[in-house]
Amino acid sequence: MTQTEVAAALGATLSRINQLVNGRTYKHLHGTAGMRVTDAGERYGIAETPERRKCREARFWDRVDRSAGVNVCWPFKGVKGNRYGTTAAGQGMTGSVSAHVVAFTLANGLQQALPSSTLLRHLCDYKPCCNPAHLLPGTKSENNRDTWVARKEGRAGAKEVTEPIVPPPGGWQIATGDLAELDREARVSEFWSRVDRGGGDDACWPWTAKTRNHFGYGQLRWEGVQAALSHRIAYALSQEVAYKELGSAVIRHTCPEETYRNNCNNPRHLRAGSQAENIADKALHGTQPRGERHPMGRRFPDALIREMRIRFWTAPADQRPTITALAQEAGTSIAVMSRWLRGEHRTDAGGPITATPDNAQQG
Ligand SMILES: [Zn+2]
Ligand SMILES: [Zn+2]
Repeated sequence: MTQTEVAAALGATLSRINQLVNGRTYKHLHGTAGMRVTDAGERYGIAETPERRKCREARFWDRVDRSAGVNVCWPFKGVKGNRYGTTAAGQGMTGSVSAHVVAFTLANGLQQALPSSTLLRHLCDYKPCCNPAHLLPGTKSENNRDTWVARKEGRAGAKEVTEPIVPPPGGWQIATGDLAELDREARVSEFWSRVDRGGGDDACWPWTAKTRNHFGYGQLRWEGVQAALSHRIAYALSQEVAYKELGSAVIRHTCPEETYRNNCNNPRHLRAGSQAENIADKALHGTQPRGERHPMGRRFPDALIREMRIRFWTAPADQRPTITALAQEAGTSIAVMSRWLRGEHRTDAGGPITATPDNAQQG
């Protein structure tokens, strides 16, 4: 959001906003204590991926008690009495340590907390509240008046909000989800962000981060393994198995070019040899857990995958659900859903993996 946009949104002049942004005025106001620029998504020296951002935001909202419903107060967990909640993590994301400012900023999809002038008034007079429907940018005098009215009425805590603020088009942006799973997705996205896939599907995908071992293999901590090798991670991810399940299997590079030999992370250039062939054999003969019996597959029973395939492939082309929608519904990624639908993964789950003849041609 540019300063011009902020000025327009608040009906203030650009120069006034600029002064506020640069901290030349209203330095003392609450919501700005310890305010600094955000960390711009820089974490552990790598740029923040959208998945990591979502995970961080979900962690914040997990600390907000939204259990009582949409229009009632959402206290920041752990705050005692009528005080503002604080969060160091929120500061990294929005530049403000105040939980209600962080909530307002994230819920409205802003990159950075509004400049210091825009005191956030709690319509509910309840300071720990992080419900964006109760937060209204205001002025110092409006805020003082709120306090004065509350005192006059002898109120010490929350009051009912009869006219909550209407959410922006598309609704408040509140990231939710299973935190462990979001963290896993974020880690995977961070892994791939360090692999240069710019050459396309058939090219070698070199590891771009500095962490290498003596042989030039990318190396990092992964799934509790201290020095996991990046190409083994890439292979494990492509096979949807845990890193440790590769065991002592040899993952060989079959790159057409010598250049990136030890440094390629394109699963298409990776083959499991020796011991892994045994694993594959076992899988064929049914002694290795696969599909929904596989530890990673338990969340997605065969019946779910079968149902998704039926809904996708048997629907008339103009009523066919999008892969994105199905992926969201099942709680997996678009890439994985796409592979399920085409039968490239979870082959044995059943259901169609291509369109039936009478609805194929329209698609
Ligand atoms: Zn409230
Ligand atoms: Zn390669």
